[in-house]
Amino acid sequence: MSQNPIHRNIALYVVLTTFCFLFCSARNIPEVSTAKATQTINVSNATWHNFARLVDVQVGSHVSGVSELKRYLNRFGYVTDDAINFSDEFDGHLESAISLYQQNLGLPITGRLDTSTVTLMSLPRCGVSDTHMIDTGVYTTARYTYFGGKPKWNRDTLTYAFSEIHKLDYLNSDDVKKAFRRSFGRWASVIPVTFEETDDYSSADLKIGFFSGDHGDGQPFDGVLGTLAHAFAPENGRLHLDAAETWVVDDDFKGKGSTVAVDLESVATHEIGHLLGLGHSSQESAVMYPSVRPRTKKVDLTVDDVAGILKLYGANPRLRLDSLTQSEDSLQNGAVSGRFLSGNFTGYVLLVVLILFL
Ligand SMILES: [Zn+2]
Ligand SMILES: [Zn+2]
Repeated sequence: MSQNPIHRNIALYVVLTTFCFLFCSARNIPEVSTAKATQTINVSNATWHNFARLVDVQVGSHVSGVSELKRYLNRFGYVTDDAINFSDEFDGHLESAISLYQQNLGLPITGRLDTSTVTLMSLPRCGVSDTHMIDTGVYTTARYTYFGGKPKWNRDTLTYAFSEIHKLDYLNSDDVKKAFRRSFGRWASVIPVTFEETDDYSSADLKIGFFSGDHGDGQPFDGVLGTLAHAFAPENGRLHLDAAETWVVDDDFKGKGSTVAVDLESVATHEIGHLLGLGHSSQESAVMYPSVRPRTKKVDLTVDDVAGILKLYGANPRLRLDSLTQSEDSLQNGAVSGRFLSGNFTGYVLLVVLILFL
């Protein structure tokens, strides 16, 4: 090659940058799951369905149901036990808590129970508290957060296993495993961590299971919708899904015929982010955003998700331009290679790598 390497690198940079921005600008509007919060879901048995009656309740008023809202905000870290006694009064503490919730969830900060706020509160969400978002305090353009102390795994291979006891009868276990392989693969494609499936649940680093109600870890599930799942920060490794949900795989929303069907792969991808050390993001399009809509698929990592995990683990050294067309061939036998990338995801990875390292 007679070409000067420096010139070749510059040319490559320009081409990649152009490609990334063209590619990503088309995907700034999230693929599926970021429908406007003002859209109301009509679900009769949703846990927080009754919040709808609280729209436009004013500060200083007493309205039945406000105490339940306070319990909700307490559950997710926005009010402390001793700050509010959970009366039905809309007091100043509640107004402050609502403002903080709106800030963390990327809503206009009004302190009011406007329609978009109440609708978002009514949606199902991850059971992990938003406390770490509040503790983060200062907001920059990045929306991702970490758990307190920024815990992470300090090894490059993590094993995962599914509980043989805590599983669903109505889902094929192979389908469940495939969904999780794809979810693990999205994270493994970015960071220098490989995930390996094992049958030995007791010794696996990451333990996955479906649980009902109070299952002994202090975070009881609440039935249909409400909290869908939770996972613990490193190096705990537990990932629990609410067995009461109508979980679906492969976009089979029609097959289940349920208004409360929840996409397993979407929730799995989110919860794996927690297992790795990411907290919740205030960017609605991010996989790590706390809320998710029923009958919606949201699996592609956004720039915010990728930037957050890259800063925790560094970039996958095997991430090369010639590895960006890998297919599901790299997902055989439960081993998820860091070389796996879906086509839709390529632009985001390249963009973040360019931003961080060039
Ligand atoms: Zn979460
Ligand atoms: Zn649990």
